Amino acid sequence: MSQDGLTARLDARLDQLVNIDMGERGVEHLFVAARDLQGGSLIGAAADQLMAVAEGGTVVMTTGSVSRAWITPHLGENDGPSGAAAVARALVLGRNATVVMLCEDTLLTAIRNVMQAAGLFPVTLEQAGIARADKSLATIVMRTYPTGDEAGKAQAAALLDELKPDLLFSTERVGRNEFGIYHSMRGIDYGMGRARVDFLFDEALDRGIPVVAVGDGGNEIGMGKVAEHVRKHVPYGDRCQCGCGGGIGAVTGCDVLVTGACSNWACTAICAAMAARAGSSALLHTPEREALLLDTMVANGLINSTHGIIDDSVDGFPRQSHSGIAELCRTIVSRAL
Ligand SMILES: [Zn+2]
Repeated sequence: MSQDGLTARLDARLDQLVNIDMGERGVEHLFVAARDLQGGSLIGAAADQLMAVAEGGTVVMTTGSVSRAWITPHLGENDGPSGAAAVARALVLGRNATVVMLCEDTLLTAIRNVMQAAGLFPVTLEQAGIARADKSLATIVMRTYPTGDEAGKAQAAALLDELKPDLLFSTERVGRNEFGIYHSMRGIDYGMGRARVDFLFDEALDRGIPVVAVGDGGNEIGMGKVAEHVRKHVPYGDRCQCGCGGGIGAVTGCDVLVTGACSNWACTAICAAMAARAGSSALLHTPEREALLLDTMVANGLINSTHGIIDDSVDGFPRQSHSGIAELCRTIVSRAL
């Protein structure tokens, strides 16, 4: 059988694994809808886009959710950062890419420390250029993005002009609904202190820059692509609890939407598909690194948002499940490595 045939079968298995709806969020409906629109594997399409980034190219990424915004802007969620770190690492190792990670000023330290635990040293854009030229250091560039609507809109064009990215990637990053409100999965307005980075993604889509987005709930950047299905199948998808008159679905779409029962799992699977394409196990997100990142997220105060406490469960799923997903993804693609 052909290599393409093998890759397609592995992609489909990764899709299936990470879209088992263990959290009862209705993600299986979003998965089927997104796959039909994509016309094939979501994980595979995302990996194709990421591996198509030019050698030495630039990728703008975002993750991070101010989890209890009504209490403090300093508390972030632990779904998002470790998955983003895994994908950023694979991009640096696989494409020698410069990855610029955007988040709120209040979450920057925690997310930076997760990136560093994944092997990426935080540097300036200029320093990243030196590292890229001689491949002497795996880096990440951390940048803040404004938390006000007007500033968020104003920053979008300027940042794309400056960075000229080859691709934008978002995971577990909440986007506004049609009334400009940023909702939690429980349908509450929790937009306060939240970076308006969805405006940057809208601008990128307008300019035709490829956008890959990962989500598990319907309220994230990218879910605009399956808006009708979010309305129909996700709790508070048609009507929130905040009284704005809309649902929690984000309006911002994407080119490739990747769903998962947990966004971090989808990112783990994307790394596995990238590793299969590169023929290199170095791009894998391993169970061992996942364990290290879970510990790092606890040490940096990132919260398990389902249970409202800082621990090494993510989206309410226990530690072993995350290492287990990494192990299964590695097993699935092992025949391509
Ligand atoms: Zn609302």
